[in-house]
Amino acid sequence: MKKIYSSYGKVNLPSKALFKTIRFFVWELWLKHKAKIKIINQAGQLPKQYVIVCNHPSAFDMFYCSYATWPNTTSFVTNRYYMFDRRIGGLMKKAGCIPKSLFTADIESVKNTIDMANKGAILGFMPEVRLSMYGELEGLPESTGRFFKKLNLPVYLCHLDGSFFIKPKWAKKIRKGPVEVTLKKLFSVEELKEATPDLVQQTMEEALYYNDFEWLKNHPEVRYKSKTIAENLESILYECPHCNEKFCLTSKGNTVKCTNCGYTVKVDDRYAFVDCGYPHYFDNFQLWFKAQKQKIADQVNAKDNFELKSKVKLSLQSNRGKGFVREAGEGTVTLNTKGLTYSGSKDGEQYDLFIPMHDTFYLCYAKDKGFQTFYGKDYYMFNPANAHESVLWYIASEQLSNNFKKLLKTDNNR
Ligand SMILES: [Zn+2]
Repeated sequence: MKKIYSSYGKVNLPSKALFKTIRFFVWELWLKHKAKIKIINQAGQLPKQYVIVCNHPSAFDMFYCSYATWPNTTSFVTNRYYMFDRRIGGLMKKAGCIPKSLFTADIESVKNTIDMANKGAILGFMPEVRLSMYGELEGLPESTGRFFKKLNLPVYLCHLDGSFFIKPKWAKKIRKGPVEVTLKKLFSVEELKEATPDLVQQTMEEALYYNDFEWLKNHPEVRYKSKTIAENLESILYECPHCNEKFCLTSKGNTVKCTNCGYTVKVDDRYAFVDCGYPHYFDNFQLWFKAQKQKIADQVNAKDNFELKSKVKLSLQSNRGKGFVREAGEGTVTLNTKGLTYSGSKDGEQYDLFIPMHDTFYLCYAKDKGFQTFYGKDYYMFNPANAHESVLWYIASEQLSNNFKKLLKTDNNR
């Protein structure tokens, strides 16, 4: 029997040779010609070992942070999903990455992180865990403060501005423009020891907060060049503001258009909307997305029996590390205040799954694919026929989880 590949196991200090190779091929030959990086160092000389926390507007943030702290090599805690593929996973392990299952307790990841701290590693975290949909911090898990106190290392901040606009999560192509990287010290070891977990949490939340649209307002000279600046915006914008029809938007070049009513809007090189003969609804896509988010939140809060239901294909972690996931069955998935249910097939057999609502419950959006979650050591991706529908699930899961946390706090305070 062939050996089943596992994303679990010990991790080692990063290979300097690999960092040098990545720096040459990714940074020198490609990324630096797109992302015009400006480093603002308010941290002075970095010590030999430390923790660095970074906000997470785009998939390239590890590169910006590594560039700004070169020649140091940082071990980043990364999404375990990327380790599902044997080749990518192998490379990431060589780079000293520490896999973590997102939004669930991952004991191995904690052990590996502490082990790496003991080995002298520089540890990198993106505490907001997922990429933002619209260029603003969407929240930090509440355990962040407690965890950092355990590590007993000075904590530095790598704050990125403009990073979202170089490669928004929804975009297929990279754009050319500036990124500002600010390095700052947040806590010395002594300060961390004395600070309460709540203070650490609060400091992190304030330090990691970003809103690239607000940053842009203070930089009137900044432009982002792309021939496809609006393309694929329909993967996060699902409701037309003009006719209120859902899933009828298309995009090409710098234009978003509704196929139902003809509503059209253009995106300029500062991501601002330019009206095209229709009423003005939003200044930019961030405000459009936030209006959608508010609408779902209102629906979730308006009734106890809020529910989403969809026919999906089920994907699970690939067995032997060939690719990230494999198709494993199909069925119906339901989300409500009690949690998430899947009923259908898995590897040719009937399978019923129930994930109860809990304080770290979250459905991450796999762009153009579906929505996904880790639960304990298991990973599930659900692929609706219309992948864009997943945005609804993403937003609703966040709201349901927030409501659950509020209830939990109320119960605890009684
Ligand atoms: Zn319309």
